[in-house]
Amino acid sequence: MSLQYVQGKPMFTNTDKVPKQYNYLTKNIETDVIIVGGGVTGSILGYYFSKHNINTVILEKNRIAHCSTAVTTSLLQYELDDKLNNLIEATTMKDAIRSYRLGIEALSEIDNFIKEYENSCDYSVKDTLLYTSKKIEIKEIYEEYRLRSENGFDVAFIDEENNPFSFDVKAGVYCNNGGAQFDPYKYTHQLLGVACENGLRVYENTEVLKVNYDNNGVMVETSYGYSVRGKIIIVATGYNTELFTKRNFGTKTTTFNIATKPINNFSGWHNRVLIRDNGDPYNYLRTTGDNRIIMGGEDINFVPDIFNEKAAMEKYNILEQRLKSMFKDIPDIEVEYKYCGAFASTKDNLGFLGPDPDNSKLWYCLGYGANGILFAILGGKMLSNLYLGIPNEDLKLFKIDRFYN
Ligand SMILES: Cc1cc2nc3c(=O)[nH]c(=O)nc-3n(C[C@H](O)[C@H](O)[C@H](O)COP(=O)(O)OP(=O)(O)OC[C@H]3O[C@@H](n4cnc5c(N)ncnc54)[C@H](O)[C@@H]3O)c2cc1C
Repeated sequence: MSLQYVQGKPMFTNTDKVPKQYNYLTKNIETDVIIVGGGVTGSILGYYFSKHNINTVILEKNRIAHCSTAVTTSLLQYELDDKLNNLIEATTMKDAIRSYRLGIEALSEIDNFIKEYENSCDYSVKDTLLYTSKKIEIKEIYEEYRLRSENGFDVAFIDEENNPFSFDVKAGVYCNNGGAQFDPYKYTHQLLGVACENGLRVYENTEVLKVNYDNNGVMVETSYGYSVRGKIIIVATGYNTELFTKRNFGTKTTTFNIATKPINNFSGWHNRVLIRDNGDPYNYLRTTGDNRIIMGGEDINFVPDIFNEKAAMEKYNILEQRLKSMFKDIPDIEVEYKYCGAFASTKDNLGFLGPDPDNSKLWYCLGYGANGILFAILGGKMLSNLYLGIPNEDLKLFKIDRFYN
């Protein structure tokens, strides 16, 4: 685990068994594609590249899915962090709507994967709710509902009259089957299991220390002295990109999560939907396959190498009190896990996918923004096709230099 980026006791890696351990690299090897990072993003890439029979290797410096992937709440929603009307400050309405539609395509990809390979990651399709309990924000939420509805998204408007939840909803956008959830640790291991059957090679405890480019491709030096030679390298290292580029990709914050012990009944939590409020920073909530609640939010600016334990405890307490006040009919809420992690946002809420404009052998798959996992799915699909010479128009939305040259 990168202590710098994740703190506390993550729930998924503490409640799940380790399904498989991968060897570390003990010889020099060759491949076509080198993926750096064995989190959910690197594993999604590994799955899509190996599906296309592209010779691919994943190098992970620690353990599979033990950094950001261990703490992601894994709310999988097509909508972005911000509402459509706010997004047009950084992009166009057409592109924002297109991003929502791409989110739906990414959700279908996950659904198809589960149908093909069984559900061993507590996956379930979910309705979603974006809501406010403030009168002053009713118009804003209604606008989001109107724009989505006019653009063909399956949404309903909720107000005080038809609110099925135990907490105060002045206005809400309710979306049928608008999202999904899974256990990210199990999902990552499931992807790798399938991909290794297709020829993917995975090395854990194998840190990339240096990257050298030449006319033939790229050569990386790893811990213990062994090298991997490939045609391209794809950076899937989450918020940790300094070794590969000087580019500054996003604004980093720390976001806090609590996870409860299993709950007996979910009174007041209609359909156990994925919930997000309209706050800034916002709170986000889901339930789990083993009947826990995960709640997150209270984001603060990320400060590298400095972790304030006392301030974190205050954040966890705020989340716990808020959770209890939202669900007064659930008597047995008891927090078992508390953890937090770095998170990066961008102006248009989208991640970065594609080759570096200054180096065609250096590619990125960085799922920044709240929909990191869905962006990684899009990255896996579009980048594996790009490698085979099939470009995709939608990649321009995720261009590496869209904010700065
Ligand atoms: C509390 C929290 C909640 C979140 N909730 C959501 C959510 O609900 N939905 C969502 O989509 N996203 C969410 N995110 C964002 C989420 O973390 C990302 O979408 C996703 O988990 C990131 O996965 P990753 O594989 O890109 O990064 P990571 O899991 O961090 O994987 C990167 C890997 O790269 C490895 N690495 C780094 N440098 C090297 C090197 N030099 N050599 C070899 N390996 C290296 C690291 O060890 C690490 O394992 C959340 C984030 C946090 C912190």
